[in-house]
Amino acid sequence: MGTLDDNIESVLYSSEEISRRVSELASQITSDLDNNNTNNTESSPPVVVVGVATGAFLFLADLVRNIKLPITVDFIRAESYGSGTVSSGDPRISSDLKMDILGKHVILVEDIVDTGNTLSCLIAHLKSKGASSISVCTLLDKPERRKVNFELVGEGKYYCGFECPDYFVVGYGLDLAELYRNLPYVGVLKPEMYK
Ligand code: 5GP
Ligand code: MG
Ligand code: MG
Repeated sequence: MGTLDDNIESVLYSSEEISRRVSELASQITSDLDNNNTNNTESSPPVVVVGVATGAFLFLADLVRNIKLPITVDFIRAESYGSGTVSSGDPRISSDLKMDILGKHVILVEDIVDTGNTLSCLIAHLKSKGASSISVCTLLDKPERRKVNFELVGEGKYYCGFECPDYFVVGYGLDLAELYRNLPYVGVLKPEMYK
């Protein structure tokens, strides 16, 4: 039986590079939260880190371990991709938050921002629930592919791990038809895998 690696054409971001960058992002977030007068206390932590399922699960896990302040964690699920590599362009929220985010500072954690459709849909949704600020922390961004611009809310900031070339990438949470999420790095599949 072959391994997952056999289907990878090239590695874009190694596990070591990702780990280094994730620590940097977490330090930046920690110091921004600390300076931002978010009044963070353990009894009522006003910061909610919201992972966009499923793609952000590994990134979120590594990121929050390096944020040195009390935070809470929740998940939301948005679906725009079918099982292929082309977005439907009409994202839907298929599973909502468990927590009440009224008056909270939300950090939305995404695997990748591509057209921007998913993010703008999620931000509008979280804003309607009364978040007092919305930041976005994405592992990857493909700025060339942007179709929709999104606006952060309140004092929200934009954090990005890597600007990614316009390939369909998998690994470290990102899938093709639910496979490859468990690769510890981000890579590009061999062309025959897309057929
Ligand atoms: P957008 O709505 O910005 O077009 O797409 C966002 C979602 O599409 C991402 O959260 C991700 O699930 C999926 N996506 C976009 N580009 C890629 C890619 O290169 N690889 C994978 N695996 N998913 C992608
Ligand atoms: Mg995603
Ligand atoms: Mg996907």
